[in-house]
Amino acid sequence: PTPPRLYGPLRRNSVGVDLSQAGERDVLEQNVAKLETGPALEAGPIVSGKPKTAGGQPVSPPFDLSCTLGTVLEASEADVDAALDAAVRFQPEWDKCGGAARARILAAMGDALENNMDRLCALMAQEGGKTFGDGVAEVREAVDFCRYYAVQAEEKFEGQTRLPGPAGETNHISLHGRGVFACISPWNFPLAIFTGQIAAALGAGNTVIAKPAEQTPLVAYEAVRLFQAAGLPGEALHLLPGRGETVGAKLTADPRVSGVCFTGGTDTARLINRTLADRPGPIIPFIAETGGLNAMFVDTTALREQVIDDVLVSAFGSAGQRCSALRILFLPNDTADLLIDGLKGAMDELKLGHPGHADTDVGPVIDAEAHEMLTSYVARMKGEATLLKQMDAPDGGHFFGPAIIELSSLDQIEKETFGPVLHIIRYDPDDIDKVGAALQAKGYGLTLGVHSRLESFARKVRAVVHAGNTYINRSMTGAVVGVQPFGGEGLSGTGPKAGGPHYLLRFAAERVLTNNI
Ligand code: GLU
Repeated sequence: PTPPRLYGPLRRNSVGVDLSQAGERDVLEQNVAKLETGPALEAGPIVSGKPKTAGGQPVSPPFDLSCTLGTVLEASEADVDAALDAAVRFQPEWDKCGGAARARILAAMGDALENNMDRLCALMAQEGGKTFGDGVAEVREAVDFCRYYAVQAEEKFEGQTRLPGPAGETNHISLHGRGVFACISPWNFPLAIFTGQIAAALGAGNTVIAKPAEQTPLVAYEAVRLFQAAGLPGEALHLLPGRGETVGAKLTADPRVSGVCFTGGTDTARLINRTLADRPGPIIPFIAETGGLNAMFVDTTALREQVIDDVLVSAFGSAGQRCSALRILFLPNDTADLLIDGLKGAMDELKLGHPGHADTDVGPVIDAEAHEMLTSYVARMKGEATLLKQMDAPDGGHFFGPAIIELSSLDQIEKETFGPVLHIIRYDPDDIDKVGAALQAKGYGLTLGVHSRLESFARKVRAVVHAGNTYINRSMTGAVVGVQPFGGEGLSGTGPKAGGPHYLLRFAAERVLTNNI
């Protein structure tokens, strides 16, 4: 096999494909068409490298409910048990093989993902309703996670570090896997977060049981096949598609699991935390990245066009289905009308439609449940607040027209609405201390945006609102691996930063050896 490239000191983030080139866009559109007309796809549990798909249930893409994309077989209780047995058995060997050997496999996975960019984008468009722009960015992020964590594994998990001590005594510290990690991932990043969690846990020397979101098992299945093709032993990674209430619950309650990495809703994180507290067996780390009530504060010095562009991307990009997405836009009383007019006009330029068409800006929301939740939310808010604008949505799939709602007070909102709904609140930037403190009191802390040309204003915002990721004068989504390590605090998560230099340590056991022989 060709040696993996682009990791170690030469590591660079991947470049993806250039969607401004008609040729590149054509290839992606052809790949989507191939999936639409080709044989139905299949997914199911993969335990110790052996896939099981027969007898699965049919699934449809979120933009065309009349067609079948493939079938998915849920993992059974026996699959969960078999995966746990095998993962426990193999973990010491996986840990012993060392960070450098594991790094080579992760880097090879990065290459495998990059070599399958077109097919993966097409699959994410079909199963997750992702636009090509989002799909390309997601494959790149998955590639970058693999290579970045490969560097971390090689640098930190190979050998041991000598520490000082008295004459005649040697002291060493070394990093190890903890055991079996359960990685529970969301549908909104079916490839990047799925792969990133697994790559981090594996790189640190754990074996992994992955439970993908029930909405996106086909992408997960494809990713696990690529891990295997990249040289990962089957016993190191097991895939268990299924529902949280069944597969997720059984997995997290099992004392054989030595760590949980979860991205999803705050309520589910609480549930997992409770399960972990109540179960017998070891006390284990819980890495959670959850939702946010993400705000952007604009002052009167901000540049209007830049604010409008960045708000559209942050609130409506990916159909608002990012944890990082903008939910509450604070506009200064003096310029709010002007900015709102500009926003409404710019929304008219957005193209809502089939994610497999290269000119689509906003695709569908993920499923009927999400669509119903958004529809009833906006209907309710029409009575309680002012619906400033909602775009029309095409028929035939889970399309939801992006909406902006003006609230009279922050009291009208308690938690995120996961979709393309932006709330606007007018405020006086001189009251930023008070307004910021009220937002902070809601308890979330994921992303924060500031638009201003005054350093002093940005500083004031940051003094009262604490977020894991703060963006000044730019959009507030799309954190880049190794550049903007991503993760929140408070109700937004336990804090570890995916794509950051300390992430792998959260998956590790540290052992110290003091030797006086
Ligand atoms: N890392 C993503 C971003 O920066 C968001 C991840 C998520 O939605 O969970 O937009």
